[in-house]
Amino acid sequence: QVEDQEDLIRVIDCRQAYHKGGAADLVVLDDVTLSLRSGEIVGLLGRSGSGKSTLLRIVAGLLPPTEGSILWKGRPVSGPVPGIAMVFQSFALFPWLTVQKNVELGLEAKGIAAAERDRLAEAAIDLIGLGGYENAYPKELSGGMRQRVGLARALVVQPDLLLMDEPFSALDVLTAENLRTDLIELWAERKLPVKSMLLVTHNIEEAVLMCDRILVFSSNPGRVAHELAVP
Ligand code: ATP
Ligand code: MG
Repeated sequence: QVEDQEDLIRVIDCRQAYHKGGAADLVVLDDVTLSLRSGEIVGLLGRSGSGKSTLLRIVAGLLPPTEGSILWKGRPVSGPVPGIAMVFQSFALFPWLTVQKNVELGLEAKGIAAAERDRLAEAAIDLIGLGGYENAYPKELSGGMRQRVGLARALVVQPDLLLMDEPFSALDVLTAENLRTDLIELWAERKLPVKSMLLVTHNIEEAVLMCDRILVFSSNPGRVAHELAVP
């Protein structure tokens, strides 16, 4: 579903080293260069510890790389990028807030009027298949439904780029498959309010099903070792 060739994000020669008290720095990413275009879903496959989550934090502008640069729509990134949202393997939902209010947290600090926040949250909740659960509390939800709340919270801001860090890996096989299928369908029908997605996964079948391109990461240090197109 590649629509145009606009680069949303470019990662150029990025290197990330973490300080280890006393010992030599741990080089987690070295020479990482990649770009993501509008209209594509890109997969990132790699072993545990290869630096995938680190790269996502860098892409989102949450962690400045030790070396190298990140361009968002051609401009250098120097802090959190408003057009990017993230979904994680697990995350906190506020137990004393309804599904609706948990989703609206995604809109916090955006200066959006309450009525509009309600409307946007309801639309995101409906889209992700949780219609009718607006007033439920997190303790009443299954794992799959909780993950959908996390997705709704990310989608409610209508981000250009959605970063997903192993979003299905805490779910049982069937639940994961249902959620993947729904996402693929929404994407194919162009109903997802995102332009591009980057999916970190350990599951090669999942990557092949969902992605237009798959970047295979090497470990120690992480860098893009192979790129697979999925025609
Ligand atoms: P997984 O598949 O297990 O999620 P990953 O590919 O996402 O792994 P990262 O979480 O990016 O890998 O971690 C890469 C390496 O960097 C690991 O060795 C980890 O211990 C180390 N690391 C991650 N974050 C920090 C940090 N804030 N300080 C020091 N070391 C870190
Ligand atoms: Mg990780």
